[in-house]
Amino acid sequence: MTTPMTDGDYAARAEQLTKTYGDGENAVHALDGVSLAVRRGEFVAIMGPSGSGKSTLMHMMAGLDAPTSGRVWLGSQQITGLSDHELTVLRRRRVGFVFQSFNLVPTLTARENILLPFDLDGRRPSSSEQARVDHLVHALGLVERVHHRPDQLSGGQQQRVAIARALATAPDLVFADEPTGNLDSRSSREVLTLLRTASREFGQSIAMVTHDPVAASRADRVVFVGDGRIVADKPAQTAEQISAFMLRAEEVTA
Ligand code: ADP
Ligand code: MG
Repeated sequence: MTTPMTDGDYAARAEQLTKTYGDGENAVHALDGVSLAVRRGEFVAIMGPSGSGKSTLMHMMAGLDAPTSGRVWLGSQQITGLSDHELTVLRRRRVGFVFQSFNLVPTLTARENILLPFDLDGRRPSSSEQARVDHLVHALGLVERVHHRPDQLSGGQQQRVAIARALATAPDLVFADEPTGNLDSRSSREVLTLLRTASREFGQSIAMVTHDPVAASRADRVVFVGDGRIVADKPAQTAEQISAFMLRAEEVTA
């Protein structure tokens, strides 16, 4: 008999989410009853065609937007029904974000960008957090770059700064939306290796939206979304397996 998972075993959990944008004839049902649990330390890839609801699902799970119905937990805390202000504070402390477009603050140095989550939270990093940041700066190969501003860094370096920022507070969940979408193949490989290492070595939970089967093949688990529903949920797959599955899914819906 397996022991049932308890709330403490999950980084984030969604139960029966629906999301409808607009109403009447213009209503778009972006999510249609999605349940998904990300275990602590797990690196999950979310795949699916454009418009299938991937970003909407991730926005609900990261507390960026509220579902039409259903419930979301971050760690063991239910976040559905929290006020905008409570959600803002919670996101700062418990979610890290990595976007395709890096989203660094152009006027701040790399180091200031990495420390931004602490600044926004109105506090200084503790000594253990400071040590974590120093370790990240080393591990991400940014020692020589900490005093540079984003426009003095390559795309790959900027994304490494964004990853360091996302990992700095050891959040419940790092949410990465197409993190390699603007990178060349070498920088993409580096970024994926960093995410995988964060999950393996620090037990960092990561949910990554991607179109790229090679990127998704680095995850522990691949969830396929189609038309606002989860159509498959698989353990680690090779890029070939993922491509073959996507092709079949397209044929079925064509
Ligand atoms: P994906 O990330 O898989 O490309 P999205 O979650 O962005 O898909 O979008 C799912 C569906 O919801 C699409 O039909 C999209 O047009 C619609 N949608 C997303 N955001 C909005 C919004 N803010 N207002 C209206 N429709 C939206
Ligand atoms: Mg999207």
